[in-house]
Amino acid sequence: MKEATDSLRARIADAAREHHAATVGHRRHLHQHPELSFEEHNTQRYIADQLREMGVSFREIAGTGILGEVAGAGGVGRSMALRADIDALPITEANQVPYCSKNRGVMHACGHDVHTASLLGAARILQQHRQHFSGTVRLLFQPGEEKLPGGATLMIRDGALENPAPEAIFGQHVHPPLRAGTVGFRPGIYMASADELYLTIRGKGGHGALPHNTVDPIAIAAQVITAVQQLVSRQTDPTLPAVITFGKIASDGGATNIIPNAVSLEGTMRTLNETWRAELHHRLQELIGGIAAAMGGEAELNIIKGYPFLKNDENLTRWAWDEARRFLGEDRAVELPIRMTGEDFAFYSHHLPACFYRLGVGNPERGITSPVHTDTFDIDEAALETGAGLMAWLAIRHLTSA
Ligand code: ZN
Ligand code: ZN
Repeated sequence: MKEATDSLRARIADAAREHHAATVGHRRHLHQHPELSFEEHNTQRYIADQLREMGVSFREIAGTGILGEVAGAGGVGRSMALRADIDALPITEANQVPYCSKNRGVMHACGHDVHTASLLGAARILQQHRQHFSGTVRLLFQPGEEKLPGGATLMIRDGALENPAPEAIFGQHVHPPLRAGTVGFRPGIYMASADELYLTIRGKGGHGALPHNTVDPIAIAAQVITAVQQLVSRQTDPTLPAVITFGKIASDGGATNIIPNAVSLEGTMRTLNETWRAELHHRLQELIGGIAAAMGGEAELNIIKGYPFLKNDENLTRWAWDEARRFLGEDRAVELPIRMTGEDFAFYSHHLPACFYRLGVGNPERGITSPVHTDTFDIDEAALETGAGLMAWLAIRHLTSA
């Protein structure tokens, strides 16, 4: 049994190496032609063309997404799913590389080109090794990860997880702090819910030297910002991580000597617990409304609910972590800390057993260290061999292990 597993491991690893140049080609093409969330028309066409050429069946889904399926030669069996997001960000690329973005102002700065290329690579490997498994591998090429309501919600709405329902879903995300060739896992809760806060505080403007004739919305805003931080430090259970950040504040006028009529603030709220998330929404409304009223003004807080927290199924993730060690080597699969960033893969994780792991793409010696969402983000393309190979390995192992 162990011998059979070892020889299959060698075959999949060889295939990932053999196809590496093609996977790099996919990544470079996608990197040069990035498209914004829910506008991924050419990306969709490119993925469709590649799958057609491989002989993998697919259909369009969720507007600009693709749902593919590789059927094992062993006939009817279990079903599992692999997911890649395909959208890019409104950033102008600063890298001077031959495969630099040709779509000015748009860049694959979150590595979704890497996820898509890796899944295309995995699809090719799986299609070539169909004789080694029964059942089906669902391929989710998902649009709009970076934008609410999240393409994952549309994929689910349009039946990506039905007929047959996959038993599990795996997704990967580039991670510059990890070296290319390595991956990272975190069983259990891994990423945060992310909600957007839009707050308007209204007072009564007037002369800056005559504050007693005004209701100063800037003074109210200052109280609100300070008090809101105490919701986190004094009212949140210290064992339940939460973050509230205001990233933007602006008045509707004002000058050194003019008190404006209104101030607007924009922020984000993160938690790892759905009950506390709802409770914080409620307490934010009460606290902010109360402060504004006490100071003679008015507040209007609009909370746009974003993605829920992401939970990695404990058993599935420990299993995948073991399989990653087996496939890549003992020291190539490390443990990760919890993150307070958000990711729409979270929607899948509340639907079926899910595992979202990190793909190392960094290479400090070559200066490849820039974080995601920056204009200098890039990867060590050796990561694509790991990205494609491990996804294919997890799929085959999941369908063939008891
Ligand atoms: Zn991103
Ligand atoms: Zn991303």
